[in-house]
Amino acid sequence: MVAMTAPTHNSSLGSVRAGGSTAALRVANQRRVIDALRTGDATASITQADIARTAGLAPATVSNIVRELLLAGVVETVSGPGRGTAVLISRRAGLIAGLDIGHRHLRMAIGDLAGRVLAEHRLPLAPDHPFTQGLDMAEEMLEQLLGELQAARADVLAVGMGLPAPIDAAGLVAAASILPGWVGVDARAEAAARFGCPVHLDNDANLGALAEHRIGAGAGHDCMVYLKVSSGVGAGLILDGRLFHGGAGTAGEIGHLTVDSNGPICRCGSRGCLEAYTSVGAVGDMLHQQHPNAAMKELVAAAQEGDVAVRRTFEDVGSHLGWGVAMLANLINPSALVIGGDMAQAGDFLLDSVRGGVRRHALASVSSTLTLTVSSLGDRSGVIGALLLALDHTEVILPAAVS
Ligand SMILES: [Zn+2]
Repeated sequence: MVAMTAPTHNSSLGSVRAGGSTAALRVANQRRVIDALRTGDATASITQADIARTAGLAPATVSNIVRELLLAGVVETVSGPGRGTAVLISRRAGLIAGLDIGHRHLRMAIGDLAGRVLAEHRLPLAPDHPFTQGLDMAEEMLEQLLGELQAARADVLAVGMGLPAPIDAAGLVAAASILPGWVGVDARAEAAARFGCPVHLDNDANLGALAEHRIGAGAGHDCMVYLKVSSGVGAGLILDGRLFHGGAGTAGEIGHLTVDSNGPICRCGSRGCLEAYTSVGAVGDMLHQQHPNAAMKELVAAAQEGDVAVRRTFEDVGSHLGWGVAMLANLINPSALVIGGDMAQAGDFLLDSVRGGVRRHALASVSSTLTLTVSSLGDRSGVIGALLLALDHTEVILPAAVS
């Protein structure tokens, strides 16, 4: 199943207390300490006092549990400057991997069971690659990263994986023209067979939303939208703190809102979709005469040097996106909208006109309360989201549960 469920490491404490046995309480308290350590934030330095506060446990209880977990090799301690001894989930407790497959790249990160990234790598990928080639490369990259960490395949407990296409409730790539080499493929089963562990699959914009909401520019906003503008244009929606997948798993396809029903043919087969005016490919086509085959980085540099055509194109893209954002914002009233993907490199050249478009087309109460910003995780939001997806589905095995 594609739909992301609530983090499985949040165990039901109420029933444990009601049960009342000492062993069950011990497991529950261990779980609370572990949960306090699983922030997904690579920079977090968490002390025993922090754990006591977030887990709602007495300092002496935390101290006992940390000792048990240390003995079992589940956590380790690190003396940090200033704030006392930090407690970390040990690498020996297991590893997870995040895999972000794009139209033109493949990126993988290996993390520990707190969601901290330990190693990461990126490679270019041919746009119309067959899925077997994508998975071959992913497997090689996994071997390489594990080699860097002196870890083994068996250490990897789960893989989170993102694909730049709508993924239906059955876990299949749902749109024939969008990621041709993967159509009808059960990507999760194929990847699980390669990696030898459970694989959790979602759309790339959904994973970007997960990452930006948890540790990026959307942190603290329980109703937020991540808008990915790259080769494709799609949105990941966080509603009431959770990813929203829709009835068939493909919510957020904002790129296929119709701007002009007589407009250019879109790769989805329809006409005049938002994506046909705002994707990186559309920008490349618009600027083909002035800047043939230019990368986004080069176009942004040209805009900074005052290139009128590039600035005007970014402005037009921003206005169109602003219209699309306004449609979505009027419906769901998010408090934050985070723009990511390659187009986000255009920064204020884009954002100013997105804001203008939102002001023009959304209700004042909606636009005036919307924080609009670019992604803080940049081109890593997809892979970090994939890692967090794996994290949410992977339990730390507790010593009390084993004994
Ligand atoms: Zn379309």
